[in-house]
Amino acid sequence: MAARRRAALYARQSITREGSASLDVQIEACRDAAKRLKVDVVVELVEPPSTSGYRNRGRSRPKFGELLELIRAGEVDCVLAYKTDRLSRGGGPGWAPLVDAFEAAGRDPDKAVATTDGWVSEFEIGIRSAMDREESKKTSDRMLAVRAREAREGKPRIAGRRAYGWNYEMTELIPEEAARILEAAERVLTGESVWSICTDWNTQGVATVTGRPWTVTTIMSILTSGRIAGLREHKGVVVAKGKWEPIITEEQHQALIVALAPKRAKPRKGRTYPLTSLMRCGLCGGRMRSLQREGGRRTYACRKGPGLDGCGRVSIRAPQLEEYVRDLICGMLADPVTRAAMARLDKGDEDEGDGSLLESLREIDERRQRLIDLYTDGDIDRASFRTRKDRIDDEAREVEAQIASRTGTRVLAEVPGTYEELVAAWEERGIDFQRRLIEALLHPIIVNPARSRKRAFDPGRLEIVPKA
Ligand SMILES: [Zn+2]
Repeated sequence: MAARRRAALYARQSITREGSASLDVQIEACRDAAKRLKVDVVVELVEPPSTSGYRNRGRSRPKFGELLELIRAGEVDCVLAYKTDRLSRGGGPGWAPLVDAFEAAGRDPDKAVATTDGWVSEFEIGIRSAMDREESKKTSDRMLAVRAREAREGKPRIAGRRAYGWNYEMTELIPEEAARILEAAERVLTGESVWSICTDWNTQGVATVTGRPWTVTTIMSILTSGRIAGLREHKGVVVAKGKWEPIITEEQHQALIVALAPKRAKPRKGRTYPLTSLMRCGLCGGRMRSLQREGGRRTYACRKGPGLDGCGRVSIRAPQLEEYVRDLICGMLADPVTRAAMARLDKGDEDEGDGSLLESLREIDERRQRLIDLYTDGDIDRASFRTRKDRIDDEAREVEAQIASRTGTRVLAEVPGTYEELVAAWEERGIDFQRRLIEALLHPIIVNPARSRKRAFDPGRLEIVPKA
């Protein structure tokens, strides 16, 4: 005999509808229906009454999120609700995510949803979820129009996270934080690096909005924002003067934009060659050495002459090559799977736990994607999105820390995780840091002779073999 279907009972009080059944009535009727339909109610999900009233209706449905999770996890086979409108948008969270969750769990959409009137047909579910998607699209179009108008009116952009320097609504400055922003701006304008500010603040225990450590990226994004100069930006363009108190002047803002613009790699005073001894000549196997040509052009070359053992027949321009290697290394390090593979390599093969750590990372990433989908579809509100995303991020960091702790080398643990942060760290921290990363990631780069007389940088000449 087949096992009975496991049902989740879902109940919610309608605020906007007169004469809607009370929660008790709904729950009783659903329990009776469960008996008739021969399903076992394994969980009862009852939305707490909304306190935010009409304006926020349908926004916050924490239990509905739980319902979706149970379906995806395969812990329930069907949903039982009092009437179909308990599950609709326009006051309810929506059918589309429900259908998606059943599909993701590989469930039959027939006999997936029941009301006290019986099973809801696949046809009706299809129609309802199509209507839902349509409404969701209209809502997001309206939201975009509202955002643009608010921007033109100079209203602050209130995001999920408070902007550092102000209270959440941006009606008041937070003096300590405003002072930090001003301090950072002035230090950058007198030639200090964002990296050193970041290090100082973390050492001093200066608190961030999230409670996590400061990163170069975070500080950069604060310092280059129009917000701190009282300018309202929309989609990266200043559209109005903001209706909040600025922390720095517009002149300081302009100067910061210039100071923090991505730098073209220009030779600094006393610059050395980060790739020296990390490259081999493709003809003779000799070490490629630095060579300053007349006119100041920097080159790596296989050199012959007194005390030099090369063949003298291979050379390559330094700046483009260094930029190429930088992008390669930062790209490799920004990829969690590569980081994990490196970790495994450092540890050797005896440790079989790394495979599962890798799996965990992938799995966490998938969950993060699903959560983002839920949020962008409007099925969970911003607060619960943030809470759950923070939880997932913490999990990811935990796993990454475990991976890093297995490496034996400390190189991985101390480098940031995103491409932009990596590039910033690369430029800020200089040649020793660069060489350490290159050595950790790559076997010596083999440079073959130029294939044509063209001056253009030709990455096809390089043989690059990752260590992982
Ligand atoms: Zn050579």
